[in-house]
Amino acid sequence: MLDKAIDMPELFKALEFAAFKHKNQRRKGPENLPYINHPIQVASMLISVGEEYNTNLLIAAILHDTIEDTDTTEEEIQQIFGEKVAELVMEVTDDKNLFWEARKQLQIETAPFASYEAKLLKIADKVCNVRDLVINSPEKWTLERKLEYLDWACDVVAGIRGTNEALENIFDEWIAKARKFYNT
Ligand code: ZN
Repeated sequence: MLDKAIDMPELFKALEFAAFKHKNQRRKGPENLPYINHPIQVASMLISVGEEYNTNLLIAAILHDTIEDTDTTEEEIQQIFGEKVAELVMEVTDDKNLFWEARKQLQIETAPFASYEAKLLKIADKVCNVRDLVINSPEKWTLERKLEYLDWACDVVAGIRGTNEALENIFDEWIAKARKFYNT
């Protein structure tokens, strides 16, 4: 089981770093979970469903929202976790200078050209977010916004299929559950 060669000290360093950076943030659902639960779930999804054991990928999963949602900079990640991890995190970071619609549209357009690792990360991230819309659904989001999110996640994943079958299958399963849940 443990011959998968994940660099545990580096992974725990990333967990500690991200937990600290997200310390004042909460997920949007009714349970008000600490934000760090989300990146942990994404990394866990990559390991347990995707069977992906690449340390840089898992570290990037743990760090994937730090630049977008905290004061963390690309340089900081580069210095602490190296060039490859920083590049990966940047690949899944939206440009906050753009409006929400433009950012979401850009993700649809650029996802097919992302690196293999960034594609894996994008799929796992969407699986966790779609699952959250079912099991920990944000109370402040209107039904319309939730349905828009589902359509958008489907559009992004449609452009990167053929990356990891198990992750794509579980994405489809959660989309189906969400559509049933929201009766659409
Ligand atoms: Zn995320």
